[in-house]
Amino acid sequence: MPSEKPRIMSGMKASGALHLGNWMGALSNWVRLQQDYDCFFMVADWHALTTGYHETSDLPQRVSAMVVDWLAAGLDPDRAVIFVQSSVPLHAELSLLLGMLTPLGWLERVPSYKEILRELEQRDIHTYGFLGYPVLQSADILLYRATAVPVGQDQVPHVEMTREIARRFNGLYGPVLTEPEALLTESKVLPGLDGRKMSKSYGNTISLGESNQETTAKIRSMVTDPARIRRQDPGHPEVCPVFALHRVFSPASRVTDIEAQCRAATLGCVDCKADLAATVITRLEPIRSRRQSWVDHPGRVNEILAEGARRAEEAGGQTMEAVRDAMHLTSARTPDAV
Ligand code: SF4
Repeated sequence: MPSEKPRIMSGMKASGALHLGNWMGALSNWVRLQQDYDCFFMVADWHALTTGYHETSDLPQRVSAMVVDWLAAGLDPDRAVIFVQSSVPLHAELSLLLGMLTPLGWLERVPSYKEILRELEQRDIHTYGFLGYPVLQSADILLYRATAVPVGQDQVPHVEMTREIARRFNGLYGPVLTEPEALLTESKVLPGLDGRKMSKSYGNTISLGESNQETTAKIRSMVTDPARIRRQDPGHPEVCPVFALHRVFSPASRVTDIEAQCRAATLGCVDCKADLAATVITRLEPIRSRRQSWVDHPGRVNEILAEGARRAEEAGGQTMEAVRDAMHLTSARTPDAV
């Protein structure tokens, strides 16, 4: 039975086990959105190839580690369709067709294109697949006729490109594809252990699935206010990554106290970090215990993905029928057409 709720579609590149930054970025929003939307959440394993086509041997492990973390964080397969992109080949078909009508200039102008080329200059990603990833991303969304895509501000241009591609398709072949809206969600950017943005590529993360001891040790190693050399030096919490994490995870009254005590040098960094570690561990406790039960039942995770693929295929199949019809590509499927 089709859902009456508006539909959203979102995905994450298959990057493996998730960290606090992923949780406070997209994932916690997804968990919340499940209440009010018909949700399609996709592990984007093909997208992982756009920048990492040379390292695929651990892709299955990355996919399952990510799904385990999704489920542990509270994604509910009874409310959301959870699936892996490559298990629904319709994404490739629609991407190919949309690629025929997407002007090259649109792709070259995508703000993140040159930025990622610069960031990953040591990798050879001057490829057709990398330039074309916004087309694949558009196909991911349009395949499910999603009416909205949950994104942070920096992702809005991608949704705009999807809308333009849908408009161009509909202008050429008739109104088949749904133009999605960007559903702006608050996503917190967390600092990592070294103060830079928490990211696997910087090796500065706190993972959802690591042990409490590892979390404590990592937080103990975090950089703090560089000007606070001795315990009696007044601190500047506004430049301290430990304080930035307190603001995300600690209760407001505790944050106020820490700020005042840091400035007055009545709280030392060792104690401040111990306090943060205890808070983070308490917040992660339900996720970590749920996670273990998913790790112990990999067969159940596979069943969820198989059922997700089936439901995604069913929804996407309806769109593709209409797309093929509109483009007059149905003759190959009709035996008596020749
Ligand atoms: S007391 Fe806390 S907030 Fe202040 S500098 Fe040390 S770690 Fe940072």
